[in-house]
Formats: sequence, C-alpha cells, structure tokens
Amino acid sequence: MSSLDALPIRDDLRGKSPYGAPQKVVPVALNVNENTHPIPEDVAHDIVTALARAVLGVNRYPDREFTELRISLAGYLGHGLSADHIWAANGSNEVLQQVLQAFGGPGRSVLGFSPTYSMYPLLAAGTGTRWISAERDADYEISPETASAAVRRENPDVVILCSPNNPTGTPLGLDTIEAVYNATDGIVVVDEAYFEFAPEGTPSALSLLEGRDRLLVSRTMSKAFAFAGARVGYLAAAPAVTDALRLVRLPYHLSALTQAAAIAALAHSGEMLAMVDDIKHQRDRISTGLADLGFRPYRSHSNFVLFGGVDDPAALFDALLERGVLIRDIGLPNQMRVSAGTEAETTAFLDAIAAVSSNS
Ligand code: PMP
Repeated sequence: MSSLDALPIRDDLRGKSPYGAPQKVVPVALNVNENTHPIPEDVAHDIVTALARAVLGVNRYPDREFTELRISLAGYLGHGLSADHIWAANGSNEVLQQVLQAFGGPGRSVLGFSPTYSMYPLLAAGTGTRWISAERDADYEISPETASAAVRRENPDVVILCSPNNPTGTPLGLDTIEAVYNATDGIVVVDEAYFEFAPEGTPSALSLLEGRDRLLVSRTMSKAFAFAGARVGYLAAAPAVTDALRLVRLPYHLSALTQAAAIAALAHSGEMLAMVDDIKHQRDRISTGLADLGFRPYRSHSNFVLFGGVDDPAALFDALLERGVLIRDIGLPNQMRVSAGTEAETTAFLDAIAAVSSNS
C-alpha cells in the first residue's frame, strides 16, 4: 500500500494534517459550533417543494450567476446592498478559499490573529499563500493599536479578521476593523460567520462597506440559519471584488439544488432565525454555569463558549465523552470550547461537567 509521503505531492503540503474535528455519533454533540436546533417543519416543506421543482431542470447547468440567490441574500443583509455586492459559494470556507485564490497565492501572504479559525492556515496552505500569525491582547481581544501595528509590521496582502472570533467567541470592535483597513493597501476580510449571535444592536462590518472597496464581509447560512448541511456561505463587498472572484470560481460552482434550497430558506429568514434567541440564552446559561463551577468563560458573541481553568483538557474531554457529551479540545492550554445546544443538550452538558468536576 502506498503512503501519502511516497506520492509526488507538492512540497508545501508535505507533513500537513487535514481539518479534522471528530465526527462521532454521540447523544450530545457540541463540538463544531453547529446549530443543534432543526429547521422548522413548514420551512422544510417549502424547501422540498423548491427542490422538487429544481430537480426537474438538472439536465441543464444551473444559473452560473446565481442571480436570484444574490438578490435574496442582499435583501436579507440590508445595509443598502444589492445583488452586485453579493457573492456566494458552497460554505464560507469556499468563499474564503476563492478570496485567497484571487488575492493571495504564491509570493503573497495572509495575516490572522491567533488563536483563530483553524481553517485559515489550511486555506492559506492550499492556495500557496504564506500564513502570518499575529498576537492578540489579553483575554483574546484586539485593540485598534495592536491590530494596526501588526498589519504595518507584516504588510500582508490579505488580513482575515474573525468577528466574533472562533474559537474564543470574542467580539471585534468596528474601530479595530477601520484601523486595520487604514493600515494596509491590501484586502481586509471580516468573517462574520457567527454575527447573528451577537447582542441586539451590535454593529456589523457591513456598515463600513461604503467607500471601502478593499473590505469584504463574509457570512454563512451554516450557523444562525441551521443550514450547515446545505453548504451555503456568502460575502458582501464592492462589485469589483465579485468580478475578481469570478476569475477563480469553477463554472457552475453552486448547484441548482443548493440555490433552490437557499432561496426557499431565505424566504423564511424570520422563522429560520427564530431559534437564535434561544441559542443566545443557552450560551449565557453555559457561561454562567461554568463560572459557577469555578471555570473561566471568555466573553462570547457567538453560539459557543471558550472557557479556561481546565486542569487537564484531554481528561475532561474523555470524561464528558463517557457521559455522551462531545465538546472541543482546541489545543489551547487549560482551555476548552463548547457550543450552545438545545435547552436539553445544554442541561446535559452542564450536568455532566458538574458531575465530573466534583469527581476530581
Ligand atoms: N468561518 C468560521 C469562523 C467558522 O467557524 C466556520 C465554520 N466552523 C466557517 C467560517 C465555515 O463555515 P461554512 O463553510 O460552513 O460556511
């Protein structure tokens, strides 16, 4: 049997590991920041009807410009955006990959503030873009001064700001985003995958788009819309940016079925987002419950909580798994991450961690 090492693989991919969050079948899976609430049944019926219509046309290639979907997404985002400002792909992972294909690549670099979403360095590796890791301030926050100093020092071609940040949950002020934009001539991507879980009234980076042609704001339907399995991510930016992405996308990259399902779901955005308030409530229960047990939860604007004060993350991971609860050991010393679940799942997690903590 041949091994990966024996293959004539690109030198810059040698020794790399693929993205690998465990996919285990357990009663309570709270490890990949999914929305654990199923989509409402009436919305599911509408999606199936739209899919049934679309499937009759799958002998033809889909609308390469996914125009109707872009119109729906622009309507959802508001902020005076129109379809010309919108791009979409199979998950925001693919959107970010296309951004690096167009604006990164060999001889170019992308800077992010660690710890941050583990796919960024992998997307950089896959596109031959050099990954630069910059540091955060205390408690994983990033001040405008810290951010702009790193960007001036490293002079990257692309900066990725995750807001709120995965895996820490910490928000990012618009002042930091503006400072980064002013410190570079390159592309600034704000990844707002978890934005809908921020407190009411938190301003989005979308409000900064006007007059900033190098600013890109990516979002996903995977989290707040409970649509992770359908694979729909999107981005808002100046129309010229979407022209750049057309140069690197594969023709017909969004299937007719994906487009139909997403358009049908967006027509029910109010209902699809109805569980967001409950998830925020479960997240706050987690933060309070963990603090009561003596752990140290970080500030979270997302659907998950990073918490410190864990003596042995690997042991806690195993002890919870034994009780049917899967959370994430993200490799940060004495810290672990847990996603907010349904009320029952959240209770199961809090009960399990209380039980194993009192054992130790
Ligand atoms: N950005 C961040 C910060 C994420 O955590 C994730 C998913 N875990 C993504 C992007 C990608 O999501 P998707 O490809 O499902 O849209």
